[in-house]
Amino acid sequence: MNLRIGYGIDVHRLEKGIPLFLGGVQVESELGAVGHSDADVLLHAICDALLGAANLRDIGYHFSDTDPQFKGIDSKILLERVMTLVREKGYSVVNIDSTIIMERPKLNPHIPAMQEVIANILRVDMDAVSIKASTHEKVDSFGESRAVKAYAACLLTK
Ligand code: MG
Repeated sequence: MNLRIGYGIDVHRLEKGIPLFLGGVQVESELGAVGHSDADVLLHAICDALLGAANLRDIGYHFSDTDPQFKGIDSKILLERVMTLVREKGYSVVNIDSTIIMERPKLNPHIPAMQEVIANILRVDMDAVSIKASTHEKVDSFGESRAVKAYAACLLTK
């Protein structure tokens, strides 16, 4: 069996008065993530996990944060493009496991919607997309709500 493991990490700064996108879903929040794209940390971490498993460099290599064509882009489009690259190398997704680190709001009510969006793009069952939510216990920039972070691991098969 040809199996490949990958992992990805992403961080974005949080600011008041901008929308928050996580896992392809807009989440109601006092603070939104700042970035060149829509700053969806979970989708970016998953993109990097998939690219890593297929040895296709990283998200910044394919979608430069200085390129105007990616300004404000919906990260679901980036994930679609990553999946095209992954499929071109003959791989398909077995499963994803991920964690979002954010102090507030509570993310659990939004997780099924995120799983559905990601499963559709990856062409897997929702059961193959695990998303966990955790806090940083008020410690450091994440605990002080100055930033949001996501970790993702994936398994690909050929
Ligand atoms: Mg990012």
